[in-house]
Amino acid sequence: MVSKYRSIEEIKEAYDAGQRLFAENRVQALLERHEQLPTDIQWHLIGHLQTNKVKYIAPFIGMIHSVDSLKLLKVIDEQAARNNRVIDVLLQIYVATEESKFGLTEAELTELLEEGSWRNLPYIRICGLMAMASLTESESQIHSEFSEAQRIFQKIKSSYFRENPEFCELSTGMSSDYPIALEHGSTLVRIGSAVFG
Ligand SMILES: *Cc1c(COP(=O)(O)O)cnc(C)c1O
Repeated sequence: MVSKYRSIEEIKEAYDAGQRLFAENRVQALLERHEQLPTDIQWHLIGHLQTNKVKYIAPFIGMIHSVDSLKLLKVIDEQAARNNRVIDVLLQIYVATEESKFGLTEAELTELLEEGSWRNLPYIRICGLMAMASLTESESQIHSEFSEAQRIFQKIKSSYFRENPEFCELSTGMSSDYPIALEHGSTLVRIGSAVFG
């Protein structure tokens, strides 16, 4: 459940109804909320992460959906090691057609995985991929972008993660497009406004 922009009271209400997994897109908000809310909440980061901020979230973050470079993977591994824990991450891929600063193209993702040094990062677990579709009215475009994400996921899984059963998550879909994402193999939908209203 994406809690960004929601008040602490709104999040508490969802918590009291049983929700334990919340996602934020900004490190600062994540830190404040983590501090103010119960410790049994599992926090996910879904927004862009700068390497110099990893140290703040490394002690508690459950999953980072938005990893888009080898450098970031290495910093997460280093900070996870310092905290004596393993951090789950997803690699963010870029399948939208609109301008967006973040996410690896299929070629960049392949290059990162081919390079191989990710295999020597014992304090991270690469659990799958994350993608966002374009913000468009065109359902057929969203279908084609999520279908592209699913194709890349399956190819990467069979090429690099055959021995890694934890590589099983495809984080696609938000309030406006999750039904389409689910048709294309999404295992994690990131829903905010549709539940919070
Ligand atoms: C805000 C956000 C969402 C959720 O958006 P809603 O439209 O509120 O469901 C999902 N993913 C990312 C990366 C976001 O920043």
